[in-house]
Amino acid sequence: MANCKIPPRVSRRLVAFDFDCTVVDDNTDTVVRDLLPADHLPSETIIHNEGWQEYMAEVFRRVHQQCCSPQTIRDKIRCIPEVPGFVRLLKRLHQATENKYDLIIISDSNTIFIQEWLDAHGLANCFESIFTNPAHFDDDGLLHVRPYHHQTECKLSAANLCKGKILEHFVAKRNLRDNTHYERIIYVGDGHNDLCPVLKLRQGDIACPRQNFALEKKITSQREKMDLRADVIKWKSGFELLRQLAERDAALDADDADATLADATKH
Ligand SMILES: [Mg+2]
Ligand SMILES: [Zn+2]
Repeated sequence: MANCKIPPRVSRRLVAFDFDCTVVDDNTDTVVRDLLPADHLPSETIIHNEGWQEYMAEVFRRVHQQCCSPQTIRDKIRCIPEVPGFVRLLKRLHQATENKYDLIIISDSNTIFIQEWLDAHGLANCFESIFTNPAHFDDDGLLHVRPYHHQTECKLSAANLCKGKILEHFVAKRNLRDNTHYERIIYVGDGHNDLCPVLKLRQGDIACPRQNFALEKKITSQREKMDLRADVIKWKSGFELLRQLAERDAALDADDADATLADATKH
């Protein structure tokens, strides 16, 4: 039976991206929270007592009470600026010679926000998979976000999302199902919840923390204490990250990356 054949073994590269403050230059949740007048914000004690997701559920209820339509929320998300150079970086990786990069997103935002922003920027077809909290607007226009999963084993990660576990599962699944082997994994992120997947990386992989943000500060200050096997590339913009990745891979076309960097500094 033809469909029982094992597919030929393929070697590829995987680039996993965080979303908030990595691809977009803000936090999608707090951008929507800013639709509320200052005196209508829920108490932050909810965050400490019940967690971020419960806090945001209350934010979405109040945004709904303020008669903000789903379209108002979607428009707010679409208008978040990219981290400079990231639209370019994502398209470049997606179009790399021999089509050798698979791109995924692992984010604690939600499906509605991420899909909305990617659609608005022509990036929706760049990603192999998007792992995030499932969301929907109900018939009344209220946004509901459910946890991606429930985990208690990983102390580095929140109960609703362990990015390291998601990364490991994805890599194992691709290997078993498609006989695809990732010769190199690149992880791009900024926050505390990106440390767990970064510590799962192997020797020869690359961790790419955003400079002067929590992940980079943690790696820089505590590197001797942590079991970090991957190389580290720090970046301030997508242009800079593309140039550094292109230095390690001709398929990314370093000349073009340099030209893009030159373009960016002109404006
Ligand atoms: Mg982030
Ligand atoms: Zn974890």
